[in-house]
Amino acid sequence: MPHEIAPRSGVAFTLDEGQRLTVIDPLGEQVADLLAFSRADIGEVISCGRTLDYASKIYLTTGDRLYSNRSKVMLDIIEDEVGRHDFLLTPCSKDTFRIIYGDNDPHQGCFGNLAAALAPHGVIPDMIPTAFNVFMNVPVDGVTGELRVEPPLSKAGDRIVFEARMDLIIGLTACSALQSNNGSFKPIHWRVE
Ligand SMILES: [Zn+2]
Repeated sequence: MPHEIAPRSGVAFTLDEGQRLTVIDPLGEQVADLLAFSRADIGEVISCGRTLDYASKIYLTTGDRLYSNRSKVMLDIIEDEVGRHDFLLTPCSKDTFRIIYGDNDPHQGCFGNLAAALAPHGVIPDMIPTAFNVFMNVPVDGVTGELRVEPPLSKAGDRIVFEARMDLIIGLTACSALQSNNGSFKPIHWRVE
């Protein structure tokens, strides 16, 4: 049985080199923000800039590698049933909801959920980078660079599988932003093997 992340919440757990992490969208159209820190030194963290630079593209899928800020491979994508994820946008946060949605009493979002889940591992909020946003669908206009956040392409039961290339601390959420999840908050399932 997979673990379940409740809607609008997040978890942290360890993933050993060689272990596989499967992230499943049980109901469809739900984003999961993923962070990775090296267990040997939490100053080494997943890097969108390095990853997109080395991949020479912004949409990553099976066969692509997620790099750290020190240019080491942290995770390989070894299976992907969706083929559309985002690695441009930061985790949704109180400020996201204040600035984009105009909320007066905003939810802490993926950022707050990740900060809380990762705090016992020594991660402080300022160490949280852009997450690999599993199942998030952000088409980019190739000429103007304009971004749009659209409903995920994931259907119920769709999955992506990562294999760890170093010992990691993983942060993972069921995303809290209405726009990213086609207007409703749903759980995320995950398992390690
Ligand atoms: Zn989110």
